[in-house]
Amino acid sequence: PVRVRFCPSPTGNPHVGLVRTALFNWAFAKHHQGTLVFRIEDTDAARDSEESYQQLLDSLRWLGFDWDEGPEIGGPHAPYRQSQRMDIYQDVADKLLAAGHAYRCYCSQEELDSRREAARAAGRPSGYDGHCRDLTEAQVAQYEAQGRTPIVRFRMPDETITFTDLVRGELTFTPENVPDYGIVRANGAPLYTLVNPVDDALMEITHILRGEDLLSSTPRQIALYKALIELGIAKSVPSFGHLPYVMGEGNKKLSKRDPESSLNLYRERGFLPEGLLNYLSLLGWSLSADQDIFTLDEMIAAFDIADVNPNPARFDLKKCEAINADHIRLLDVKDFTERCAPWLRAPFAPWAAEDFDEAKWEAIAPHAQTRLKVLSEITDNVDFLFLPQPVVDEASWTKAMKEGSDALLRTAREKLESADWTSPESLKEAVLAAGEAHGLKLGKAQAPVRVAVTGRTVGLPLFESLEVLGKEKTLARIDAALA
Ligand code: GLU
Repeated sequence: PVRVRFCPSPTGNPHVGLVRTALFNWAFAKHHQGTLVFRIEDTDAARDSEESYQQLLDSLRWLGFDWDEGPEIGGPHAPYRQSQRMDIYQDVADKLLAAGHAYRCYCSQEELDSRREAARAAGRPSGYDGHCRDLTEAQVAQYEAQGRTPIVRFRMPDETITFTDLVRGELTFTPENVPDYGIVRANGAPLYTLVNPVDDALMEITHILRGEDLLSSTPRQIALYKALIELGIAKSVPSFGHLPYVMGEGNKKLSKRDPESSLNLYRERGFLPEGLLNYLSLLGWSLSADQDIFTLDEMIAAFDIADVNPNPARFDLKKCEAINADHIRLLDVKDFTERCAPWLRAPFAPWAAEDFDEAKWEAIAPHAQTRLKVLSEITDNVDFLFLPQPVVDEASWTKAMKEGSDALLRTAREKLESADWTSPESLKEAVLAAGEAHGLKLGKAQAPVRVAVTGRTVGLPLFESLEVLGKEKTLARIDAALA
């Protein structure tokens, strides 16, 4: 049975790279009817926070992810927060030491640094040089007497490590490129290098799908796994697949600190979870060459890790918005109107709650649905309906209200006065006729009307907007513009 895991560290705000990793693991688990284990890697007390942890849970729920084992729901390998599993790591570290797979290293940082420099200068590999690998009892006693506190270091076997990456194919690491590495700090705190593979082993993870930035830790983890198998702690080495880097602006790796990588931003702007996930799935994968828009169920059905492209993927906010816009269009209108709700009230809406008119909203919603890239755009698009006066955008006003606009507006008002207000067609005829009277095409003629009524030069289809706003208010706003 397939068992995959998603194991973020609760530091900072959730970002798109993390969501992409969660998505691929989730889709892989669902595709194989496997188990998704959600584990919190919070062993770094200095960087992890409860607030981040809560945000992670909240974000994953918002995105619609579910997991089979993990925080809040528990499971056979509980607890799923590493901060609550410290005794397990201590025990494994002791066993590794006892079996000789790990040793105590007394080198100080200064000593490590100066030897690294010397190795570099001599053109030798600059990783840990094995200084404390085989200390005699006397040497240990001497270091202890000096008051040195050792770290625990894993002893890498002196052999080449080869594995078949599910995304990249066969990869080989030679021993000089993978030196012995620390697994427990001098203060006794276990490191990621230990706790991550130990939990993967104990939780019987079969496939590890994660970012390419972790590729260099894979040969170490494979070696540790083999030691764990020998100790009876692990059953077998899992398969690894490393997802491609995500590149941002200027072809630089998208960093957690780039604003477009913050998940909260997408949520606040009103991306649909399904739109965002659809886009993020394209960072390294595709359903087919000619289909960019699909549902998560379609993704699950088609997802094959072997189809993931190892080349860096480019993050393109415009494309992300375009895909989201398509998903907005795919909603049924009722769903759309409901999902817009947060942006139709405080603190986003500038109108008073009692001025909101449900019937007007329902009448305009279908026209808005086809035009939004993100839901938060709804507020500005419909504010003219609920505010006593439109918010006048000065630049729009100057642009639209040219010489002759007054005369045009006066004629338009007249024609609109006698138009049939139950049909946008009739309102269009009125403005068209007003334009003709002044030698203006429809586009030019409707600009001042739009600005007078909505305050802006761009917006929802004008005649539907006028119809929903109603005759009385429309004419009053044109009067106000003429005054
Ligand atoms: N906690 C690690 C991280 O967030 C997990 C890495 C892994 O998937 O092995 O980077």
